[in-house]
Amino acid sequence: MKRIYNFSAGPAVLPEEVLQQAADEMLDYKGSGMSVMEMSHRSKTYQAIIDEAEADLRKVLNIPGNYKVLFVQGGGTVQFAMVPMNLSKNRIYDFILTGHWSKAAKKEAEIFGKVNVIASSEDKNFSYIPNLDNVKASPDSDFVCMCDNNTIFGTKYKKYPEFPGKILVNDASSSFLSEPMDVTKFGLIYAGAQKNVGPAGVVIVIIREDLLENEPLPGTPTLLKYKVLADAGSMYNTPPTYGIYICGLVFKWILAHGGLEAMKERNEKKAALIYDFLDNSKIFKGTVDKGSRSLMNVCFRTDSEELNEAFLEGAKKAGFANLKGHRSVGGMRASIYNAMPLAGVEALVKFMREFEAAHVK
Ligand SMILES: *Cc1c(COP(=O)(O)O)cnc(C)c1O
Repeated sequence: MKRIYNFSAGPAVLPEEVLQQAADEMLDYKGSGMSVMEMSHRSKTYQAIIDEAEADLRKVLNIPGNYKVLFVQGGGTVQFAMVPMNLSKNRIYDFILTGHWSKAAKKEAEIFGKVNVIASSEDKNFSYIPNLDNVKASPDSDFVCMCDNNTIFGTKYKKYPEFPGKILVNDASSSFLSEPMDVTKFGLIYAGAQKNVGPAGVVIVIIREDLLENEPLPGTPTLLKYKVLADAGSMYNTPPTYGIYICGLVFKWILAHGGLEAMKERNEKKAALIYDFLDNSKIFKGTVDKGSRSLMNVCFRTDSEELNEAFLEGAKKAGFANLKGHRSVGGMRASIYNAMPLAGVEALVKFMREFEAAHVK
């Protein structure tokens, strides 16, 4: 077996210990004689798996009792629709545009109502998080949508905006559980699992209980109503059982490794290794403002397309996978989620240093 350093933005690297445990339990989950994949979601054994996953997530993120945790299907993208479908009153939505995913969410929300863009960083190709200190929400908007960590552009909020009296909705897909987060700042948080906590197919939704009482828009399908999912403990229909099980193992892995404070420390250390190198490099440079740098997705480039290509080719040969930047940014992107070991980042920086030495004249 040969594992390589996988810098994919998602689906992304998972902790080796988790994969090993899943492998060990693949054919016979704890003496049940079957795989979790083959198990009825209505069985006692599976109920214990989902209950434990939720309890562990609550512990990891310190989720207050007045928030529900839902395991939903359809990825982050289905939340772009579920949020307006479930939280509309006036059908007016405020958006902070910070990249590809907030634009996609805005486009989906426009199916249901009117969108006001109250702040944007599109003027500089989303290379920064706008200063929101003096930005006000629209008086009649139903909620404000933001995207915590911009997976494609490599930016992250360092401070959350405050909109008194408004529901703040956070797409936290690519920063979820990378560091502590104050859940109470938000009415709703969602995160597609395949970035930092599990396999694609699960999206985690954390919603303040009182928001479940809002009447969904007419025509909202049953399965897309938060209240229905909450009342059924995420099992109105068959949930993505195996994915939830893996998420549960990842939550346990986080707890066993010191929780979110420890994740943050590790992630800061890893990110600093690359950013410090970039700041001192003669050929590579980071693509985003220093004050907005993501801990999870590090975007960088050289000034030459040929050099970028040569780097990507060399990196691939050297066993570093998925370093190509998204087509809308170009260059390179190293996604260094929780499960990327420090050794992987050290090896990458060493490779970059050698590449630079070979290419600086
Ligand atoms: C990946 C991603 C999404 C979309 O997730 P899907 O599961 O593919 O629908 C949404 N938002 C952010 C921030 C992402 O990184």
